Parts: sequence; C-alpha cells; structure tokens
Amino acid sequence: MPIKTLMGLASVAKPLTSEEGRRILERDQYRCQYCGLDGMAQFENSLIMTVDFIQPRARKGKKIAENLVTACRPCNVIKGHRIFHTFEDAKTFVLKRREELHKEWEVQKTRLRNKAAAGAL
Ligand SMILES: [Zn+2]
Repeated sequence: MPIKTLMGLASVAKPLTSEEGRRILERDQYRCQYCGLDGMAQFENSLIMTVDFIQPRARKGKKIAENLVTACRPCNVIKGHRIFHTFEDAKTFVLKRREELHKEWEVQKTRLRNKAAAGAL
C-alpha cells in the first residue's frame, strides 16, 4: 500500500516474490529469528513461517537480505509495524511481549479451570 507524502508517492519496496522469500527462509533454516521456533520440526510450524522486514516495508524498509529475517507469524504480528534501531531491539521487544502474553494466558487458563471445577461453566 503506497504512502502519500508531500512529495507524492513514497517509494515502498515491493512484496517479496516466493523465490526471494524462499532464499531468506533457507538462509535462516526455516527457524524464527525471534523466538527460535523450528519450521522444519513439524509440518504445522512450517505453515506459519513468514519473512519479516526488520524495518517495515511501509516505513521505507528495503527489500535487501540484511533487512529480512524468518519469523513465525505470531512473532511477526507482535512486532507489527513498529520501528526499531536494530534487529536485537526488535527481538527484545517481541520476546518480552510474548512473555507477557504467556503470563496472561496462564492466568486465564487457571481462571477457566477453577470455574470449571466449581461447576460454574
Ligand atoms: Zn517466532
């Protein structure tokens, strides 16, 4: 989706072709560079592997190997279109947010179990 600026249309990198995507996935051995999920360990994992623009395409991130990493869809969604100075900053953010979500999920799970045990469901 092009972004309008005062200068007209800003240049936004084109989406990856499947061949370009495959090159990045193979370079990273189909492993999410954020959480480490192994896309080759299980078929289900392979289905959720994506290629992430470290600097988002929508924010003028370039379509070059240095700006592309393998990411599972959950990590990719968590990262969103935020801008980070480095990949390490992005990774720190994604892993922290995953940890927060994990804790919220544990609380929710416990609440649901207690409800079920009390016959409230
Ligand atoms: Zn991941």
